[in-house]
Amino acid sequence: MEKTSYKHKFINHEEGFTFCEAIAEAKRCLNCKKPLCRTGCPISNNIPEFIHALSEGNIGEASKIIAERSNLPAVCGRVCPHERQCEGSCILNRKGEGIKIGKLERFIADRDGDFNLVNIVPGSQDKGLVGVIGSGPAGLTVAGDLAKAGFQVKVFDNQPEPGGVLMYGIPDFRLPKEVVRREVNRLKKLGIEFKNLVTVGENLTIDEMFKEGYDAIFIGTGNSSSKTLPVDGNDLPGVIQATDFLQKVEIANSEDKSTEDIINSEDEVIIVGGGNTAMDAARTAVRLGAKRVTIVYRRRCEDMPALKSEIEAAREEGVEIFDKHGPVCILGTDKVTGMATVERRYDEDSNQVVDTDRRKDFPATKILLAIGQRPNELIASTTEGIVVDDYGFIKTRENPYGMTNRQGVFSGGDIVNGPATVVLAMKDAQKVAKGIARYVEAKKLMEA
Ligand code: FAD
Repeated sequence: MEKTSYKHKFINHEEGFTFCEAIAEAKRCLNCKKPLCRTGCPISNNIPEFIHALSEGNIGEASKIIAERSNLPAVCGRVCPHERQCEGSCILNRKGEGIKIGKLERFIADRDGDFNLVNIVPGSQDKGLVGVIGSGPAGLTVAGDLAKAGFQVKVFDNQPEPGGVLMYGIPDFRLPKEVVRREVNRLKKLGIEFKNLVTVGENLTIDEMFKEGYDAIFIGTGNSSSKTLPVDGNDLPGVIQATDFLQKVEIANSEDKSTEDIINSEDEVIIVGGGNTAMDAARTAVRLGAKRVTIVYRRRCEDMPALKSEIEAAREEGVEIFDKHGPVCILGTDKVTGMATVERRYDEDSNQVVDTDRRKDFPATKILLAIGQRPNELIASTTEGIVVDDYGFIKTRENPYGMTNRQGVFSGGDIVNGPATVVLAMKDAQKVAKGIARYVEAKKLMEA
């Protein structure tokens, strides 16, 4: 019997530019002397220059310019909060419509990916051996920058495939997994080795890595533990962490397996939270065919940390949003049947959202918690000399940038700075890569 494919549920990517549209958009750029777009980009991408190269039809040159500052252009072109960064800073917003910089970056990266316009040459790998733990945007950036600078780099990750949240968090309909795989393959061409399904702290320790000859080690393990809702009923079957849900769906999707047992057409789903994870979980639940999908958020919609465009997209897809509702308890005896909330109101005097004495119960068969993440402390607890703060975030120094209290062990991205964005993890990682290069060069000089 012919096998039914389940993947169709997720093929819903936003259309990119055609060649003509991209060139026309690039030609609108004023190539400002003081480019505010570049100031608005956390990694200072040379935006006017790559747009100028594109406007002349030179996609290879445009791609080379982007590669000077970024190892993940096809990812950034899709998931960066452009409206708050480069695009939000474009001077043309004042006169009408700003340049769609994200879509142009995506166009260039995709064409280069399709046609291999830029020849990637592996570095010399003779400057030292660096181990990278975690292959999210922070780990991939450290790995890419150091490989380009002549280091031998091996990346370890506990997931089946590299990419971190890019692979197992952000859903396929926003960031196709083929795009993540393509970016990782480009890094492999630089000579970087990837070792997956290795949990450092369990199968391998940092001490063992040093004994194997690593000159420096980078920890970029993100915030893989999720916060739980401190109310009665939070352990009932049917209460699931939104990040675990997204990961399960991605694994089922990549293996082309049914998602019926995760969420199906009988399910009434509540998502608690107002960030990107909440929107992604809600929009994924819609795609799995849930009967009803509702977001419950304790503050106002305008206070939600999620991107406006994501909130609008969730609404357009049929997600109902109840803001100013605080969870009181999860209802049910042997499984979830709903959630009791207290209605809240905005108090102008204190500029706060406060509880009223009105209650509202929502029916539910599944409750997805998206109320924040925190670091997993496995590595810190199994490695001597890694100091963490009261919340479990690794403490690092300014000089050499990113080094922990343990000599030769560096850290960066969300595990140091808390949950942020892809590009902020990359920005931090770029600085750490420089810190590691300086440290290893000094170490080699001392050993000589
Ligand atoms: P991560 O991406 O979390 O990568 C850490 C990696 O380390 C993971 O693969 C993990 O499995 C691995 N690891 C952990 N412990 C170990 C161990 N002991 N041994 C080996 N490996 C280990 N940002 C945006 O800019 N735009 C968005 O649209 C956006 N959407 C998001 C949607 C969701 C659902 C989530 C959860 C986050 C989103 N973010 C978004 C935030 C962004 O993805 C993160 O800020 C970013 O991925 C952090 O990068 P990182 O490299 O520090 O960590």
